[in-house]
Amino acid sequence: MSIVLIIISCGLAVFVFRRLMEIKGHYQCPNELKIQDYFEGRLKKRDKESYDHLITHLGICEKCQNILSGMATKDVKPNGIEDHLIDRTA
Ligand SMILES: [Zn+2]
Repeated sequence: MSIVLIIISCGLAVFVFRRLMEIKGHYQCPNELKIQDYFEGRLKKRDKESYDHLITHLGICEKCQNILSGMATKDVKPNGIEDHLIDRTA
C-alpha cells in the first residue's frame, strides 16, 4: 500500500514541477528581436510557440509592453497584431 502512495506522490510531484516550470516560462522576457518579429507580423508564421508565449507574456510584463509600445509610433503601424496590446498613451 505504501509503495502505491509513493508512486502517486512522485507522479504528483512531477506534475506540479512541470506546471511550475511552465508558469515560470511565461515570466521570462523574450529577446527584442522576437518582439520586433511579432510587431511586424512575422512571428506567428515563423514560430507559433514563441508567438503564443509572447501573447501570454505581454499580458503580465510591463517592460515588454513598453518595448512594444516604443515600436508603435504614429508613422509605423503594427502588422497584424492585436491593437489593444499597444499602449499609445505613453
Ligand atoms: Zn517581459
